[in-house]
Amino acid sequence: MNAFFQSLLQTLFPSTCACCGDVLMAGENQVCINCLSKLTATLYTAHDDNHTERLLTGRMPLANATSLFVFRKGNTVQQLIHAMKFHGNSELCILMGRQMGLELLQSGRFDDIDLLVPVPLHWRRRLQRGYNQSELLCRGISQIMSRPVNTSALVRHRYTHEQSRQAAADREENVKDAFRLRHPDDLRGKHILLVDDVLTTGATLVSCGEALSEVNSLKISVATLSVAGQ
Ligand SMILES: [Zn+2]
Repeated sequence: MNAFFQSLLQTLFPSTCACCGDVLMAGENQVCINCLSKLTATLYTAHDDNHTERLLTGRMPLANATSLFVFRKGNTVQQLIHAMKFHGNSELCILMGRQMGLELLQSGRFDDIDLLVPVPLHWRRRLQRGYNQSELLCRGISQIMSRPVNTSALVRHRYTHEQSRQAAADREENVKDAFRLRHPDDLRGKHILLVDDVLTTGATLVSCGEALSEVNSLKISVATLSVAGQ
């Protein structure tokens, strides 16, 4: 598409920011600069023993873990996640995945990852949403880190309710035994990066870890786009 046609399209059908809804300026993509500046970075990725690692260590086998942004009720990160999950904005998911990939690559702590594995959605929810946001995050990471994405080994076989309004104990019960391994041989001896959009209590990732524990010599690291603020 040539530049003239692109600017004509932009004038006729202006794109808006996925977080605040303001019209995007030239050079902005999906999220305006003002909202980008409000995404609270955790600065975890370069450091071990960060909050995400402490939250998951001892509850599942874990090599390294990180989360990029702090998720709080009403903050810009929450608006971003909302746009990714409920507004059908698949392009935004891939863009955020690319951001994750850049940070993981820069840290050097995730260099020996072999495979990217998204936390799976139940097929019914995936059909409703049209995509799995965590799988699209993996696609974005893959564009930067050149690692394959595996969506067939781990599946969610139980339909669970959205967890956003549940207490910690209910969340744990909700996702217990929700995941199954379908092709364990594809993961044997690999170091996988388990990817999700939001980390709250860790119940979902721990449940994935339990299903994955059947795989021999598997190493698991975790990356989430956001983590609930303490
Ligand atoms: Zn904005």
